[in-house]
Amino acid sequence: MPAASEYLSDLSSYLNASPSSFHAAHSAGLRLLEAGFARLEESEQWPVAAGKYFVIRDGALIAWVKQADAGPLTGFHIVGAHTDSPTFTLKPRPSSGRAGWLQAGVEIYGGPLLNSWLDRELILAGRIVTRDGVEHLVRTGPLLRFAQLAIHLDRAANDGLVLDRQQHMNPVWGLGDPGHADLLTVVLEEAGLKPADVGGFDVVIADSQQPQRFGAGGAFLAAGRLDNLVSVHAGLHALIGGSSADGAQRPIAVVAAFDHEEVGSASRSGASGPFLEDVLLRISAGTGAGLEERMRAMASSVCISADAAHAVHPNYPERHDPANRPVPNGGPVLKINANQRYATDAPGASLWAGLCQRTSVPYQEFVSNNAIPCGSTIGPLTATRLGIRTLDVGIPILSMHSAREMCGVEDPYRLARVLGEFFHGGPGDSPSSGTMH
Ligand SMILES: [Zn+2]
Repeated sequence: MPAASEYLSDLSSYLNASPSSFHAAHSAGLRLLEAGFARLEESEQWPVAAGKYFVIRDGALIAWVKQADAGPLTGFHIVGAHTDSPTFTLKPRPSSGRAGWLQAGVEIYGGPLLNSWLDRELILAGRIVTRDGVEHLVRTGPLLRFAQLAIHLDRAANDGLVLDRQQHMNPVWGLGDPGHADLLTVVLEEAGLKPADVGGFDVVIADSQQPQRFGAGGAFLAAGRLDNLVSVHAGLHALIGGSSADGAQRPIAVVAAFDHEEVGSASRSGASGPFLEDVLLRISAGTGAGLEERMRAMASSVCISADAAHAVHPNYPERHDPANRPVPNGGPVLKINANQRYATDAPGASLWAGLCQRTSVPYQEFVSNNAIPCGSTIGPLTATRLGIRTLDVGIPILSMHSAREMCGVEDPYRLARVLGEFFHGGPGDSPSSGTMH
């Protein structure tokens, strides 16, 4: 395991390499290849041998380590996370413009804090599929900006900024006649493609600014997409980094990084879709498990759903529960919600406490203020779909869904260490299956 500062610079390079969900899955795949994992295609026969594997479905990735002694009754330890972040996607016919400006037509993706995207230099990134069916990852340099109206022309701006989602969210990217300029051509040029080649595209906006440490003693990290690439990165790090030292039989370690969490997860690469179930079924089949054995293996399986958590905001402490107020660098957060917006229950909490204790990692708890509706994440979705014991965790951040979020520099590495223990640690980390004493 690297030092915390080394971990942080590795995290920053993953954030930089992952401006879109497609890039996040692809750059995760590159890391896995480098670590000796083999990429499998869903349309091909999968090996039954033990080994390290991954599969990419659009902007989602699932990777796993099957130990040599894995059999039909071996359960799964799964870390779930998501690759997407709130942003804007290019509309079809994205080239527009008024008053001598070239602008881009964009659709809002998920729930971004719109104001946080103003007055930043932004890139375009995503995938282009050419008419021959080949997928190309593309990424531009700084190209666009949602320019805010000067205060002289809107004296009430500081009384409560109102941004119309259609009228005001049209970034500028040049000057000229929109009838004679094509934004897509600019994107294609970077990839050496021609407009006539293009069959379709999924392209999003991302901030061009690099991640940066700041604060007293460099205590904080600011970056886009901390929600939720910090968790994807931690899961990968845990999966790649460790190996079982004690020789005890371990569950099959799985990282599932889904797309489309920010828009409800209902897609073929989202957590409400069949991707994880498909992969687990195929791994099970490879161990020779019949239905009875598979159900027994699932009953001993556990999922840790890792996603960003809310740190207490010093200007709005009343929005939080008075007793449960996570702070940056206080350790990763166990998320609890009676209404099952988070899947954590007492056996899951007990498992988490044990993992943190064995890795000497402090942890905190988040629960909503009753007057404020709770957010949700993929944990309850995978729990509902698969019936696997699930707990929701994550690192505490401020400015969630801003173009530039912030976290403490200690917490990402701590999360990775706890997840590593979950994958590779000693026996005794399966929660009780409800046995009462
Ligand atoms: Zn998230």
